[in-house]
Amino acid sequence: MTSAPTPTLVLGGRFARELPELALPWQAVDTPDPRVLVLNEPLATELGLDPDWLRGDGVGLLTGTRVPDGATPVAQAYAGHQFGGYSPRLGDGRALLLGELVDDSGRLRDLHLKGSGRTPFSRGGDGLAAVGPMLREYVVSEAMHALGIPTTRSLAVVATGRPVQRETVLPGAVLARVASSHLRVGTFQYARATDDLDLLRRLADHAIARHHPAAADAPHPHLALFEAVVAAQASLVAQWMLVGFVHGVMNTDNMTISGETIDYGPCAFMDAFDPATVYSSIDTGGRYAYGNQPVVAEWNLARFAEAILPLLAEDQDAAVAIAVESLGAFRGHYSAAWSAGMRTKLGLPEGLHDEVASAVVTDLVALVQADHVDHTSFFRSLGAAARGDAEPARGMFLDLPAFDAWTARWLALGPDADVMDRANPVYVPRNHLVEEALAAATDGDLAPLDQLLDAVSAPYDERAGLERHAEPAPDSFAGYQTFCGT
Ligand code: AMP
Ligand code: MG
Repeated sequence: MTSAPTPTLVLGGRFARELPELALPWQAVDTPDPRVLVLNEPLATELGLDPDWLRGDGVGLLTGTRVPDGATPVAQAYAGHQFGGYSPRLGDGRALLLGELVDDSGRLRDLHLKGSGRTPFSRGGDGLAAVGPMLREYVVSEAMHALGIPTTRSLAVVATGRPVQRETVLPGAVLARVASSHLRVGTFQYARATDDLDLLRRLADHAIARHHPAAADAPHPHLALFEAVVAAQASLVAQWMLVGFVHGVMNTDNMTISGETIDYGPCAFMDAFDPATVYSSIDTGGRYAYGNQPVVAEWNLARFAEAILPLLAEDQDAAVAIAVESLGAFRGHYSAAWSAGMRTKLGLPEGLHDEVASAVVTDLVALVQADHVDHTSFFRSLGAAARGDAEPARGMFLDLPAFDAWTARWLALGPDADVMDRANPVYVPRNHLVEEALAAATDGDLAPLDQLLDAVSAPYDERAGLERHAEPAPDSFAGYQTFCGT
């Protein structure tokens, strides 16, 4: 590892300094032939990084092979419940935290790599990543950001020139990712399992300082931290549900303390509305199905509560009682966020009686579920219905009398079509188009990827030439599956 020729670039090491027990100094593996496949220029600029430099001499920063003087890349330790089973030692098996940057609004942001080689946490894995899955994370995380949903960001995907062995040999890549931090529920589980109360306390204080600073002034800061994480996750998962996002692998190591979506593995946007929707090939029991996500989030937060129990009260029974009561707020937060989001999606006027609004919402959900209506295009087409043309929406239903009756009731409430168009995206990363773009990029053709990114980066603005991106998958695409950790 040599120094990058940018003496002005400072990569902080706050995580490594404050929590050395969770930070293993490590180096990225060499990249034989690095080539930038995609670079997020606006994000680079936000971080004070010159896009031209990153494409040239600075590419080593994006692969971790040339880091600034004084930087201390680390593999982060964490534990986690994976599909309900506890693993005491996961950690960054193919990732590194390079350090923290201060962005142009003064916020601290982690610069992190995925696919940067083996670490002491790799277990049997090769520490590497293939081009396709890293581009998938890039596309989907940027789509989520453009939809206004809290998420880690993608700065770049760099092809390494090193082949990786999966079912076939694939081109390797490193994803450079940016997050407000990489603290996870699993980070707390790891710290708790060390039985080092001082470490657990330092971790909680670090999380408060970085993510929930108001908790520091609360009468009980660590309880306030827990409450803030419960609220942030309830809001996040409600936003996933409102756009039809299926995370696919909601293990506790993939749930952040910040409330950002993290780790886009087998994720996908739902086509036909069905709570049982599962895409991940390994989720045979449907644990992380679309409709289960709120319950799983609550379950994960219970694991978070267990991890910080000693910080909530000295007496364990008292701590449990506090945790149970605080976690009880999750359902109310979630329902409020989801209901408010649905009201906006339907353009319902402010001041409408709660019972009227919730009946219209509930009845609609039953209709779209019964007729397996395409989630994204249906909600968007309701905007046209609010403007007087219900035919596009109507054409998606089998039970026309039921749709007509519902529509008449809803129209009588005076929905605001402009509000709806700002809440119901035209473009989400359609599974069949994501697959098409990734396959083309793996073969060296980046044009479909560029068009996909163009569509999902401005998801609410309908544009000519992007019609394919607004349409559901063809029937021949049924049975779509996604894969983890590739
Ligand atoms: P994920 O499913 O991506 O959240 O990863 C779960 C755990 O598996 C984390 O500890 C990862 O670092 C590790 N992991 C996933 N893929 C690999 C790989 N190819 N090599 C080493 N570790 C991996
Ligand atoms: Mg993960």
